[in-house]
Amino acid sequence: MPSKLAAGNWKMHGLKSDLSELPAIADTATATSIPALICPPATLIAAAATPGLHIGGQNCHIANQGAHTGDVSAQMLCDAGASHVIVGHSERRSDHNETDKDIEAQAKAAWSAGLIAIVCIGETLAQREAGNCLDVLAKQLRNSVPDDATAANTVVAYEPVWAIGTGRVAEIEQITEVHDALRVDLCVRFNDGKDFTLLYGGSVKAANASEIFSCANVNGALVGGASLKAADFCPIIEALA
Ligand code: 13P
Repeated sequence: MPSKLAAGNWKMHGLKSDLSELPAIADTATATSIPALICPPATLIAAAATPGLHIGGQNCHIANQGAHTGDVSAQMLCDAGASHVIVGHSERRSDHNETDKDIEAQAKAAWSAGLIAIVCIGETLAQREAGNCLDVLAKQLRNSVPDDATAANTVVAYEPVWAIGTGRVAEIEQITEVHDALRVDLCVRFNDGKDFTLLYGGSVKAANASEIFSCANVNGALVGGASLKAADFCPIIEALA
């Protein structure tokens, strides 16, 4: 059985004062027994430690240390208190030209540091409209998720690029079709493929979370904007319970 996960990606949002949102999120996670994760900017990871809440990074370099100005390593994230790290978010793929092979290496670096890798995949609107969605996703999954991934060290997040931050959530039929296909791919490739946690991301809100979570192969969400405030994120955690 896949574990459920309610994950929040704060992206480049958040100052120390925003950590005041975390205790209420942790309380909801504890009350519902739903694992919740907040990935704040790296500057806040150490200060974000909150009982009952997992904390994660948003990207990592493949080396533990070195002459890489501005980068953060998986080992550093772990040292700061992270348990997870997002790799391959579409904003990293587009803003920093990260490729599937880069992301595969980052996932391995995450594991070496003892972190769970949340590997993101997602098609652009042009790819979907060209009818290539499932092929694009299968290729990203094959090339970004390392061969020795397990359900214990890797979470897969499907985030259609066109649904991120746009308020345009994918249709339930689209989410179901993709998540069912990803599950088949994972089961073909990995002995424990049926146990991988599969997250949907892209304009998830309290108002649409229950419907999204009703899809059989959706085990949680990777939430951007609606994870910044406890008032928005807590109902999403509750919808997963
Ligand atoms: P939004 O929930 O703001 O659409 O962002 C989704 C996302 O990119 C999470 O990683």
